[in-house]
Amino acid sequence: LSTWSAVPAGPPDPILGVSEAFKADKDPRKINLGVGAYRDEHGKPYVLNSVKKAENIIASSNPDKEYLPITGLADFTKAAVKLAYGTDSAPLQANSVAVTQSISGTGALRIGGAFLGRFYPHSKTIYLPTPSWGNHTPIFRDSGLEVKTYRYFDKKTVGLDFAGLKEDLKNMPEKTIVLFHACAHNPTGVDPTPEQWKEISDIVKEKQLFPFFDMAYQGFASGDFARDAFAVRHFVSQGHQVVVSQSFAKNMGLYGERVGAFSLVTADPEEKARVESQLKIVVRPMYSNPPLSGARVAATILNHEGLYTEWENEVKHMANRIISMRHKLYDNLVAQGTPGEWGHIKSQIGMFSFTGLTTPQTKILAEKAHIYMTADGRISMAGLNGHNIDYFSENVSNVVK
Ligand code: PLP
Repeated sequence: LSTWSAVPAGPPDPILGVSEAFKADKDPRKINLGVGAYRDEHGKPYVLNSVKKAENIIASSNPDKEYLPITGLADFTKAAVKLAYGTDSAPLQANSVAVTQSISGTGALRIGGAFLGRFYPHSKTIYLPTPSWGNHTPIFRDSGLEVKTYRYFDKKTVGLDFAGLKEDLKNMPEKTIVLFHACAHNPTGVDPTPEQWKEISDIVKEKQLFPFFDMAYQGFASGDFARDAFAVRHFVSQGHQVVVSQSFAKNMGLYGERVGAFSLVTADPEEKARVESQLKIVVRPMYSNPPLSGARVAATILNHEGLYTEWENEVKHMANRIISMRHKLYDNLVAQGTPGEWGHIKSQIGMFSFTGLTTPQTKILAEKAHIYMTADGRISMAGLNGHNIDYFSENVSNVVK
């Protein structure tokens, strides 16, 4: 008998499973709207020019392959927190933001979960919005936190359930940890407005809740880094001791390079040093130290004036292409007399749209039209382009009729 004979088969990953079905489909019209990765006008993966140039600069400097420190490349982490908090941020100016490089956004969340599990003195519970990115629950559960939820999405309006959200925040135990998507909420594409963020910040303060921001899409939502960081920067300006996970997977297209950062606002440089010493103790037994190449690329772009500007323009281009697809899809669905209200396609933000398509409808689209999306009706807008959007709209329209 094999040692592992009692290991049960786990369920397939709901998102990566969509990609597998797509790969197996041989129809030339097939469209993959499952995975959250940017695609260009021709449906192809896109390597940013700023990234290629940074790689050339790095290659010509003939760099070594030594280990990074446990908390990563300082040129990268310093620039990453500037991007998130803003150069003029008070805790940055006071040198009180503790930070470590991470294995992209997922790794940042995992370090954050582990650190809070070990040192957050008031609670071991984290509240997630419903719905949230599917990986949040296992990440925090495996970090040793208890996961609970708060209301976020209203199926009826296909928008934010702001009243439900506020009520749930107000009913949480004091000082509990709450996770917020900083911008471009995944999977719904529904974000609070700046005014609503201000109200949320006030409630968080009143209840002394502890805000954990997952910022996986900075720049990707609006094309503007500052605008997408509004929530984080507002909370910091209100004196909240936030923690932030950052990913450069989407906004630099560095998906497989695994570049991210986890940071915490602390009281002063002395406390920051203590916190960073403990971040090292969290990281060291997990993976010792982070990967080098992607962090070098990100640091080169973030610290080089010309490349930074070029990157900013490329992020704007990606965001704008997605926004233009939202408008085209909306116009098509309306022109085709599709039953229902489709305004949410235009108002939703970021990589994804929560279409409102039902699970049976998504199945029909896969089987009959070779169009693949997650069963909750979420589509990655980046998978749409000038060549496939008419085919896509027609089939959505038909399946709804
Ligand atoms: N957080 C959210 C909300 C996401 O959507 C994602 C990726 O899809 C991540 C975090 C982490 O991504 P990565 O680990 O690739 O940076």
